[in-house]
Amino acid sequence: MALKNEARGRNIRVSFEFFPPKSEEMEGQLWHTVSELQDWDPDFVSVTYGAGGTTRAPTLTTVTRFLSQTPLATASHLTCVGATKEETHQVVDTFRKAGVTHFVALRGDAPGGAGAPYQPHPGGYANAAELVAGLKEIGDFEISVSAYPEKHPESHDTAADIDMLKRKADNGADRALTQFFFDNDNFERYLERVRGAGISIPVVPGIMPIQNLTQLKRFAGACGTIIPAFLDERFAGFDDKPEERAKVAAEVAAEQIEDLVRRGIHDFHLYTMNRAPLVSAVLDNLGLSRPGRETKSAGAAA
Ligand SMILES: Cc1cc2nc3c(=O)[nH]c(=O)nc-3n(C[C@H](O)[C@H](O)[C@H](O)COP(=O)(O)OP(=O)(O)OC[C@H]3O[C@@H](n4cnc5c(N)ncnc54)[C@H](O)[C@@H]3O)c2cc1C
Repeated sequence: MALKNEARGRNIRVSFEFFPPKSEEMEGQLWHTVSELQDWDPDFVSVTYGAGGTTRAPTLTTVTRFLSQTPLATASHLTCVGATKEETHQVVDTFRKAGVTHFVALRGDAPGGAGAPYQPHPGGYANAAELVAGLKEIGDFEISVSAYPEKHPESHDTAADIDMLKRKADNGADRALTQFFFDNDNFERYLERVRGAGISIPVVPGIMPIQNLTQLKRFAGACGTIIPAFLDERFAGFDDKPEERAKVAAEVAAEQIEDLVRRGIHDFHLYTMNRAPLVSAVLDNLGLSRPGRETKSAGAAA
């Protein structure tokens, strides 16, 4: 039996986020990635759910395969945008029948995409706090929700964000997973305010290993993520050097996690972008063990 990281003195737990594949090729890539990353023994994995329900079927297919063909505890993301409460309940029922017991409950973005003005569906849940309450009425689900250490782009201010997080926690959310960020001071300040508001659920940092800084900058603004200047310096000169770029990316994410561990954080949600090498390089840099691989090698040697 392989030792868990805690038993080895590395008090770090991870979860991984995936998205449903959009083509056969991407599907092959996803399941190859999963077979690599499951060796890290994540606490759970989660599968995203497309805006406006556009990827409901692929999310269900992907989640079902995780639940039936891997040993991984699997959460399904769920949004309530563009749906009546009855429609949302039907989706929840379908996912529950597939074996889902953990939802990442979200409002979702307006159909025009992140940044477009949001209109709740008449007869639908207006926000994620209402969705959490609705889920709790349907069943005793484990529920994760979002949190925004650098402010949700639509929010008037951080106080409004924290107020929404409090409503989600009061309605029964078990943990918050954050939008990705790179400035740990911003996270720490946010967490102090969250605790000051009487919110006690775990707030798990979302860590985005940077596959490509230029591409990341294009969508970070829409997510409310600040790109600190030090990232430009770390990646400078590596635009056409993918190997060096990957090495720096793995170092940057591992350093961010190590710094958060020093600040007392031990759970991390990694945005995998359905690719294994960079995520594994980050966890290798942290000196984590791969219980799954050790079990396989022990089995092969026996
Ligand atoms: C961990 C994580 C996972 C995600 N997964 C998905 C996914 O699978 N699919 C997907 O489509 N999206 C996903 N998103 C993105 C998310 O749907 C968007 O950020 C969306 O805009 C808000 O959803 P929410 O649940 O965070 O909203 P809420 O928690 O309801 O609101 C977030 C914040 O926005 C502010 N706000 C909300 N509505 C308004 C308004 N009308 N006016 C002013 N301020 C407002 C509030 O202050 C609130 O704090 C994810 C985000 C995170 C952090």
